Parts: sequence; structure tokens; C-alpha cells
Amino acid sequence: MIPIRSEKSYTPQDRAKQRKYKHRQRQLAGVRVHDLAALGKAILLCDDCTPKFNAAPVGYATNVKMPRARGQCDGCLNYTPAGVLFLKGGG
Ligand SMILES: [Zn+2]
Repeated sequence: MIPIRSEKSYTPQDRAKQRKYKHRQRQLAGVRVHDLAALGKAILLCDDCTPKFNAAPVGYATNVKMPRARGQCDGCLNYTPAGVLFLKGGG
């Protein structure tokens, strides 16, 4: 019998290892962001992607001391000069 590997058979850690190859972007932005949330990593989102991320149910909040940061948006992977930074438990 041939084992069938579905997307669900990959753990967030597996996908994080695959993510270092940036040309492999076959997953949805929501999967990427929620994998980061499952690993407890900091999440940076641009103004377009911020309303799509429901932070409270996964235990995330913005840090009051540093609510904005500069870098690559984890949702759309575009550069954002002032993205919203979400931290586990608000930092
Ligand atoms: Zn974005």
C-alpha cells in the first residue's frame, strides 16, 4: 500500500523548515501565519493583512511599547515600512 501524505500530515515545524526555500510558496498566507502562531513566533503583518488575522483566539496581541515594526509581511511577503507586530500574549 502506498502511504498518502496530505497537507495535514505536515507539522508546523516541517513547514517552517521548508519555508527557508523562498521559491516554494505553495501554501496560503493563512496557513503560514497560523503556523507561526502555533510555534509562538512574532508575526508582522502589513495594513492589508492585519484585518484578516484574528489574533485574540490564538493568544496574540500587539505590544503596547512597540506596536509597529518594519520588515517583510508574514501574510503577503511584501516589504512593509510600518507593519503591525503581534506577539504571543502581547509580549
Ligand atoms: Zn501583507
